[in-house]
Amino acid sequence: MLAEALGLSVERARRLLEGRASRVLRYHGLTYIVLRRDVGEHYEGTSVVLTRSGAVRVIEGYPHIRRILLLGRAVPRHFIDEVVVEEKMDGHNVRVARIEGEVYAFTRGGYICPYTTARMRRKYGRALERAFEALGEEAVIAGEVVGLENPYTRYYYPEAPEWDYFVFDIFTRGLEPLPVAERRRLAEEAGLRNVPQLGVFLKDDWREILEATRGLEELGREGVVLKDPEYRVEPLKYTTSYTNVHDIELGMRYPFDEGRTFIFPRVLRQIFKAIEEGWDEDRLRAEAERLGAALLEPAIEAVRTLARGEPLAEEFTLTFASMEELEEFTAYSAGMGVPLSVVSIEAGEGYVRARFLKHKKSEEELRKILRTGISPLD
Ligand code: ATP
Ligand code: MG
Repeated sequence: MLAEALGLSVERARRLLEGRASRVLRYHGLTYIVLRRDVGEHYEGTSVVLTRSGAVRVIEGYPHIRRILLLGRAVPRHFIDEVVVEEKMDGHNVRVARIEGEVYAFTRGGYICPYTTARMRRKYGRALERAFEALGEEAVIAGEVVGLENPYTRYYYPEAPEWDYFVFDIFTRGLEPLPVAERRRLAEEAGLRNVPQLGVFLKDDWREILEATRGLEELGREGVVLKDPEYRVEPLKYTTSYTNVHDIELGMRYPFDEGRTFIFPRVLRQIFKAIEEGWDEDRLRAEAERLGAALLEPAIEAVRTLARGEPLAEEFTLTFASMEELEEFTAYSAGMGVPLSVVSIEAGEGYVRARFLKHKKSEEELRKILRTGISPLD
């Protein structure tokens, strides 16, 4: 069934199933196979779902979006005429599919997350039903889950402080997207939220696009995704200086986890910001100081935290409808190899709130340095 679903030879499908490039999982009576790499035409994060009735559904992995470093070079070359500028919200990517009457939330990696699925059904069950009614069962809705109550990426958004979902793509089948305007109308009519749209620009007016990102810069928001109104060419992303540096700052709280991989790509983005925006001496000084602080301060604070004998771990709170739901999520995380511990539970009328600690590799690495005084790098 895998060979047929993905358009592979039987032999290739067998090797895929046996190897580490795929994983087989179960969720509420569904069996699904996750692709952990690109396979043939299918992106990493693709899920092949075997439904209860024996039908097969392929939920395609969400495509990678290439990044702009110089708007003035990239935008007039890449786009055809008009460019829709949508906000790039910083949370985690979730594709929603309806399978035999129930909606499921797939993570970027292609896993059905029990927590996200449960919250999605509670908040948007009816709206999603309306959307799939209009779109048909083959459709996949893609969007960003943002807010502080998720196990993956937490940024505070005033319009979504805890948990919400903002649609940015609708695929009618496979990876065939609805035009931007149609998608936005359909989502809204169904009662779903769209990512904010900053405007529609002519590709040669890239300076106006740069101008439009200034507001986001001041609000400390991530950036934009630029799209052809009909997806005739692929979308491109562009982030604010604020985010480039702020991500380094957050990442360096855990230098051996996010820290080391975050640095170079973000420094590169800042270098080309300076070129495109023509930073003067004062701006350059200010940015250099901001970047230096982002690199050093959180990491030094992390080492001091450990030296005081305190743990170095990510902390977050999730809200469940019941203890069973909480247990299902912790079992799922353990299965994913993510070490989570529950530090406290508050149960009330129809809800269970749990505080989690997520263990970080940096803790061991930094402790070892404090103990031995020797560098693990060189
Ligand atoms: P990749 O670069 O492979 O897409 P990534 O997670 O590193 O992976 P990001 O830099 O976060 O990528 O940018 C792409 C992601 O941005 C998308 O996968 C999606 O989750 C998110 N996103 C937020 N807002 C939008 C939007 N308006 N349109 C498209 N994607 C958006
Ligand atoms: Mg992201």
